[in-house]
Amino acid sequence: MTALVVPDDLRELDASFASLSPIEMIQWLAEAHGVENICVTSAMTSDVVLVDVASKAVPGIEVVFLDTGFHFPETLETVENVRRRYPVELRIMAAPAGIELNRWETDPDGCCNQRKVLPLEEALSTKHAWVSGVRRSDSPVRADTPFVHRDKRGLVKLNPLAAWTDDDLATYAMVNEVPMNPLLDQGYPSIGCYPCTRKPTAGEHARDGRWSGHGKTECGLHL
Ligand code: SF4
Repeated sequence: MTALVVPDDLRELDASFASLSPIEMIQWLAEAHGVENICVTSAMTSDVVLVDVASKAVPGIEVVFLDTGFHFPETLETVENVRRRYPVELRIMAAPAGIELNRWETDPDGCCNQRKVLPLEEALSTKHAWVSGVRRSDSPVRADTPFVHRDKRGLVKLNPLAAWTDDDLATYAMVNEVPMNPLLDQGYPSIGCYPCTRKPTAGEHARDGRWSGHGKTECGLHL
């Protein structure tokens, strides 16, 4: 099969992706770059839906989970449910040893960098493209998320669920019996590490319970 030519500027492609389904977008990515050169990232929260979609689009696709060492037990349980359920190549990237245990308290940016960003860099170091579950409705900062673009490394980044609302996600999860993280039903619409995640209060946005009091809105993976 002749590989698809991927242009440097992906804006036109991004506009054309509005008419594709998430499965079609991921299949395009695999055809353009080769299955071995792409991966999906999942925090094993509501983005388990992305794992479901990706496993149907490209069975055997690599799914990367960043194990920060600070995940809720429910999140780790979800990892195992995904391992049992889906035909994907699960790759767990553990945080390096020796990171100061309480760094999240005094320097959350540095903590996220060591426990998330650097392990992701390693996971992506051999890849040409990656897939994330980022959606425009996640937060105001993510409102302009494109379907496809080049990230700061020059890799192609696909966000096939970018246009999905919370209702779209919930409906898909219900219809397809996706093993979602149980914390979602316990009042945590956005889930990260336990020291940096609380339930949002009435009137707050879903991600307002992340890094509460630190003025931080993103871990750095999707900037
Ligand atoms: S979310 Fe909190 S504990 Fe997890 S890596 Fe970031 S700062 Fe550290």
